[in-house]
Amino acid sequence: MKTKDLICVSCPIGCAVTVTLNDNGEVVSVTGNTCKRGDSYARQECTHPERMLTSTVKVSGGRLPVVPVKSAKPVPKELLLSCMKEINKVQVQAPVHIGDVVLSNILNTGVDIVATNNA
Ligand code: SF4
Repeated sequence: MKTKDLICVSCPIGCAVTVTLNDNGEVVSVTGNTCKRGDSYARQECTHPERMLTSTVKVSGGRLPVVPVKSAKPVPKELLLSCMKEINKVQVQAPVHIGDVVLSNILNTGVDIVATNNA
């Protein structure tokens, strides 16, 4: 058995959560969370951590040279760097609108990369 201390980032309260894992790395218990979201966050973070991804994409023919983008859903943490490399290869043609998909299904994660501003 081992324990892992986390801060839940699911809301601004930031509860200190302790996760107990067995020798196979499986979650045995979660304590310190004030609500169920904290339990879900802690289990996810210990077994399959994910992160939202934000970056920029080059734009040609627009009023700005780049447009800010984000992942529509969290992506697996271990793929963040690879995803950033894929995003750096992308160039889109203006006009770009908020919510436009600039890269779909990045690295077969099922997650789209979308614009968060107009360009
Ligand atoms: S456990 Fe619940 S109350 Fe605490 S930080 Fe997470 S979401 Fe907020």
